[in-house]
Amino acid sequence: MSSTTIGNYWKGQSSEEQLLRTAHRVEADAWRLQKSAGIEAVGLDGTLYDQVLDTITWLGVVPPRFKGLTGLRRYFAMARGGPGCAALDMSKFFDTNYHYLVPELDADFAPAPDFAPMLDKLRRGQEALGSRQAAVPIVIGPVTFVCLAKGCPLPVGEAVGRLLPAYCQLLRLLGAGGATEVQLHEPILTTSTAEDLQTVFQEAYGKLAEAASSCSSPLSLHLVTYYDDLGSTYPWAVQLPVAAISLDLRGATGAEVTSQTLQHIRRYGFPHDKRLGASVVDGRSVWADDGTALALVRELLAAGLSPDRLTITSSAPLQHLPYDLAAEGDHVPPELSTRLAFAVQKVNEIVRVAEAVRGGQRTDVAAEAPTQEAAPSVEKAAGEAEDEAAAGGGGLRCGLPAEMFSRSEPYDVRRGRQVQMPAFPTTTIGSFPQTPEVRRLRQQLRSGQLSQSEYEQRIAGHIAHCVGVQEALGLDVVVHGEAERTDMVEYFGSKLGGMWFTVAGWVQSYGSRYVRPPLIVSDITYQGPMTVWEYGVAQSYTRRPVKGMLTGPVTILNWSFPRKDISRSRQALQLALALRREVEALEGAGCSVVQVDEPALREGLPLKRERWSSYLGWAVDAFRLCTAVAAPGTQVVTHLCYSDFEDILPDIARMDADVLTIENSRSGNAMIAALAAAGYNHDIGPGVYDVHSPEVPSVDFIRSRIRSFVETGILGGRADRIWVNPDCGLKTRGWPETIAALRNMVTAAAQARAEL
Ligand code: GLN
Ligand code: ZN
Repeated sequence: MSSTTIGNYWKGQSSEEQLLRTAHRVEADAWRLQKSAGIEAVGLDGTLYDQVLDTITWLGVVPPRFKGLTGLRRYFAMARGGPGCAALDMSKFFDTNYHYLVPELDADFAPAPDFAPMLDKLRRGQEALGSRQAAVPIVIGPVTFVCLAKGCPLPVGEAVGRLLPAYCQLLRLLGAGGATEVQLHEPILTTSTAEDLQTVFQEAYGKLAEAASSCSSPLSLHLVTYYDDLGSTYPWAVQLPVAAISLDLRGATGAEVTSQTLQHIRRYGFPHDKRLGASVVDGRSVWADDGTALALVRELLAAGLSPDRLTITSSAPLQHLPYDLAAEGDHVPPELSTRLAFAVQKVNEIVRVAEAVRGGQRTDVAAEAPTQEAAPSVEKAAGEAEDEAAAGGGGLRCGLPAEMFSRSEPYDVRRGRQVQMPAFPTTTIGSFPQTPEVRRLRQQLRSGQLSQSEYEQRIAGHIAHCVGVQEALGLDVVVHGEAERTDMVEYFGSKLGGMWFTVAGWVQSYGSRYVRPPLIVSDITYQGPMTVWEYGVAQSYTRRPVKGMLTGPVTILNWSFPRKDISRSRQALQLALALRREVEALEGAGCSVVQVDEPALREGLPLKRERWSSYLGWAVDAFRLCTAVAAPGTQVVTHLCYSDFEDILPDIARMDADVLTIENSRSGNAMIAALAAAGYNHDIGPGVYDVHSPEVPSVDFIRSRIRSFVETGILGGRADRIWVNPDCGLKTRGWPETIAALRNMVTAAAQARAEL
């Protein structure tokens, strides 16, 4: 749904009827497009804001604070907050970059279902597709729903049990409404959490199967799993009483998922009484790849599955991909145009693979591959998996010498040569307010209204203002303010070789917000300084140290669409090598403090715990490769958002940053306490206030925060190594509140200093 359509409704510029009419048309268009491409069972997707929020609504498990509201007002109040009621929390959906609204279930929650919207959607789907069979309702399964919720003191099984009557009733109503199949999405099955949920699943699906079979005409249940392989849940999960199960054969992160799922099927078999949803078309990647999809089908046939028991599908909902490559027009370079596939192209891929299966004999399925390139083999894919796994042991560093991954002096030695600071030194995380004026500048540059040199002059003006403010406030280490950046990944992506930007490749981040992630399309190359000019301008206005400001390799990788032909670990190392040259360039320009942000480091953690060490192995190596080039006297800072790192402390320590700044204010110092307990002894900068709120924190509040840091025992109280900074960048704030908050922060630090 276009964000303008929803925005107009929010602003009161269009009516509820208009909004729904547009939404229904957009949905029906997408369903029809699939049907005309040749998809036989079309999942009835589509939402005004978020599928989890839809589920909360039809289940009627709305938190009490929204009880006075109804209909769309209540729906959007849950999404965005309303008078007197805070919005639901938002959280990342599994390992994707999509954010869902978190259900809240308390001890005595009681569903008050309203199935009308689901039944209406079924009716609209049947009408759009002109068939009962083709219209397949999608329902987030009860176990996944409960696991996505927060605040529920009940055991999962009990909470699921409370929801089951509603789910069973829904199945009966969908059956009565003419549905012949329902998809139950249970991605939780691919996470480590599911290992303990065998009985919960068995009991729940026993009841759901009963409800489905009590329909007057048979309703088949299709259990859909994605984002990873089933892991140790495979043997019992495939025995759940459903007619079909979809298994992810691609994953988001490489070939490990492919080889695991194949191995499970070979080792344990796949039940003869079920269809297999063969999720062979990569729904997380922007690359066209009929070859691998067909090779995987061949593997399935070789493992004993007959073609008529296979349903070809994508490995994940296509919501994580841009919509249509055709929207790029002639913007796509010729060498990419045949190699890319967005959602619409993936639909065609599914159909081509299905046709090949149907038309082909076991042996010549692959021969029907319509790609020009040789089909990449599954064996090659397994090789990549090894690549990633080996990186975990620190063994695979692309042949680069070990010295490139380590600073030349240990922290204890080099720290003395770096900037010396008073107790509780003050700084910020990098960005300052991105005012409409700043955004206009970039737009004027793009449209040619401003020449490059005029643009630079204006940016220099913003940098001067930003440095002036920090000087006046008395911050110890200053920044240039990042006025030239739209986005911390896009900025570097557009300056490095090997990345490509779409013009219309929007992907939903949450609700009405979309992002346009860059694509890594070839080897990453350094094309020259990216931040040195801005650093120089800032430093020319002050004698205080100016922090150079870079986005780290892991964050760039995790917020882009990676290549599929080489492993993510290699891409991370390539990015690291390029950024390493920028660290050198900054040093060459006189910069003595360099910050390398890695807010997405944690986000990249695989869904299965046993794969964490492999990921962290190469991710931390990439950070080290990028920063280890710094001379001992250069202070390397890193910044991590969302402070729940307690479970990966050794990896954080292995980053070997001189200063670790973390988002902290919402976590009650949990992370600092954990670092203190672990004996972490490098400089640390826990955020002293939440940047997400326009509220200005008082001096007393900040001073008590600083005191509380010291009380955790971190760094044995060495106050010159405990930094005082906000939680994160200030780009979403306005200037007045920013100045007021930083003034209080500097005052609080001075008071804390005086108290020593
Ligand atoms: N330096 C970046 C900024 O200040 C860091 C942003 C982030 O952590 N997401 O905006
Ligand atoms: Zn941050």
